[in-house]
Amino acid sequence: MRQVHKFKAVDVCQFPCLSDNYGFLVRDRQSGQCAAIDTPDADAISAAAEAEGWTITHIWNTHWHPDHTGGNLALKERWDCTIIGPAAERDRIPGADRLVEGNETVSLGDVPADIIATPGHTTGHIIYHLASEGVAFVGDTLFALGCGRLFEGTPAQMWDSLLKVRALPAETTIFCAHEYTAANARFAVTIEPENRALLERHEEIIRLRQEGQPTVPTTLSREAETNPFLRADNPALKSAIGMTDADDVSVFAEVRQRKDNF
Ligand code: ZN
Ligand code: FE
Repeated sequence: MRQVHKFKAVDVCQFPCLSDNYGFLVRDRQSGQCAAIDTPDADAISAAAEAEGWTITHIWNTHWHPDHTGGNLALKERWDCTIIGPAAERDRIPGADRLVEGNETVSLGDVPADIIATPGHTTGHIIYHLASEGVAFVGDTLFALGCGRLFEGTPAQMWDSLLKVRALPAETTIFCAHEYTAANARFAVTIEPENRALLERHEEIIRLRQEGQPTVPTTLSREAETNPFLRADNPALKSAIGMTDADDVSVFAEVRQRKDNF
């Protein structure tokens, strides 16, 4: 089930890949330049590009995990595209042509994408923020009602990374890399059982998934109200888990640990 989301200057094609990943193609309508955001499945990504009549000119990797870079070489072979990935993971990004760090900008035609370093899930994880479009591709840093597991980073690093994401404009459309939302929602309601917005969203997510609909993309404003991992500094959440006087990083670490054991 392929969808195309339209923004000011770009279109974003979204389609399921592997068991629970999403593939994304973002295309600047004016120049025709088109980036695959990560490469969970080269065949599915090529098929989507062909179905839309788009030519893949770039791959923008968020981090090295195989469900994000596994299709790099096959796509490069097929499309002769330029691969951009995080400098901190240079040896683990197959076929990388350009390595980037936070505070750099890449572009599709005249549309810039700011690179923001968000270490935590992996040490080099980056996200791509298209400010002029109000769009961010956040990989495995932030999920709808969740966040990435801390495979390589500390809670303090991840909390700092999530604060950078939360600082983007509230109406930013957030494209995350996995459809984990139903499981995340089941967990989130155990943290804030009295958060009305969360309870309503839980119902909506159950309905969407029963209908086979994606819950991605989400928006930052919705996440700020309901995602426990973005709310570790919120007095209501702290109180709900009995950590009223704890510092934000400790609260974030506790919520992350509860999710790991959920
Ligand atoms: Zn990952
Ligand atoms: Fe992943």
